[in-house]
Amino acid sequence: MEQKRPGLIRSLQRRLEQKELSCRELTEEYLKAIERDNPALNAYILTTRLAALETAERVDARLAAGEKLLPLEGIPMTLKDNISTDGIETTCCSKILKGYTPIYDASVWGLLKKNNAVLLGKTNMDEFAMGSSSENSCFGGSKNPHNTERVAGGSSGGGASAVAGNLAAYALGSDTGGSIRQPASFCGVVGLKPTYGAVSRYGLIAYASSLDQIGPIAATVEDAAAVFDAISLPDPMDSTCRGKQSAVSGILTGEIEGLRIGVAKEYFDGIKQPEVAAALEKAVRTYEKLGAKIVSFELPILKYALPVYYILACAEATSNLGRYDGIRYGYRTENYKNINEMICKTRSEGFGAEVKRRIMLGNYVLSSGYYDAYYKKAQNLRGTIVKAFQSAFEQCDVILAPTVPMTAFPVGFTGQDQVETYLTDICTVPVNIAGLPGVSVPCGRDGKGLPIGMQLIGNSFREGIILNAAYAFEQRDEYLSECFSKVEMGVKF
Ligand code: GLN
Repeated sequence: MEQKRPGLIRSLQRRLEQKELSCRELTEEYLKAIERDNPALNAYILTTRLAALETAERVDARLAAGEKLLPLEGIPMTLKDNISTDGIETTCCSKILKGYTPIYDASVWGLLKKNNAVLLGKTNMDEFAMGSSSENSCFGGSKNPHNTERVAGGSSGGGASAVAGNLAAYALGSDTGGSIRQPASFCGVVGLKPTYGAVSRYGLIAYASSLDQIGPIAATVEDAAAVFDAISLPDPMDSTCRGKQSAVSGILTGEIEGLRIGVAKEYFDGIKQPEVAAALEKAVRTYEKLGAKIVSFELPILKYALPVYYILACAEATSNLGRYDGIRYGYRTENYKNINEMICKTRSEGFGAEVKRRIMLGNYVLSSGYYDAYYKKAQNLRGTIVKAFQSAFEQCDVILAPTVPMTAFPVGFTGQDQVETYLTDICTVPVNIAGLPGVSVPCGRDGKGLPIGMQLIGNSFREGIILNAAYAFEQRDEYLSECFSKVEMGVKF
């Protein structure tokens, strides 16, 4: 298949290798664009200018010496602020961690750093990754580059806003219940949540450990595949991580003849915007034209996914967030009479409203008397959801679903009704519950020009299959006119 939409990373690396521009010039372009456009987007909460230029110079020296570029080398990128960076403040966008500077790198950043990835800065997110608009950040929310009166999504909203607004070539985010795919869908970029265990979480500040995964947000499918390949290695520091099964970049052919694409009606039931339903129906027909076989089936268990997710995620968050007590690091209240009061006031003042709500919910579902009624029941249902997906993958290779039942919310929407906000996670959480890989790719636009995302879900460690299906969709002639809306921001190529 002829490549109509080349990856940004590969085309930038080619320009560096052909000496069309130096890595320093490229990095300076991005830094200038951040200075100009970040005030409107609030994608970055911190930039690492000096370190970025230092890395760029190292890359230029290697190029001058005739060395070949390593994967992702010299490409300006960004990290979500829950990914630990040695010597660079890492706050999870929470007051309780302001001023905290890790003394070690998350394994994913260690891997990229070794390849001279150019870190431009840290990106905005909902506090401790809890939210769907990034407005739960203590730095204020990130805006959508397609329309700054809309949110960028969350919780990795800053990363998606930076990539869509051309303020970074790619970003790493984390996805516990949709936080990579949902902002990617809202901002019209590609977001991959890898299989649980494919990418190391060492150094990722934990939200819900049985659900969290790190993955890329990128401009194209090829870029997402390249970043996934670079970060999905086994890690002795994370016992849950075994790495990918095989590299995915090399298998992007766009050839999907005979691929069985499953469509479960339950995923489509909750769609709130007719334009979203229409774009997805069109995507199904497109796949049919490309040679895929459409298989319809039912997944009635999906109706339990949202309550299961919110019970388990809050329970795990309660435990993970117990460590923020003002004793060892981070924020500490100023006035207190004894240690109990110190811890109590530190946590009351340091955490935002949504984080406190979830800690209370989590304690509630774990407390004696309620444990069996909520937590245990949710764990049992989790097993049933895992089995339902396993039998679905006996009938199909990929499941096609909406990423979000709507396009980007107006700024301020998520602050109004929490339950309404939780409901918007309905299509993304099942993948985390079952530990599966899922990718969101743009598949259309609504009447206001806002991007619509499509989600492709695969069986465990089948990132290659879903990325190849996404690639086939993205490389069509019609993709540009139907799905792609360029924004007038950031670095121009
Ligand atoms: N919106 C979901 C939540 O608030 C997902 C967040 C995430 O994936 N980190 O829990």
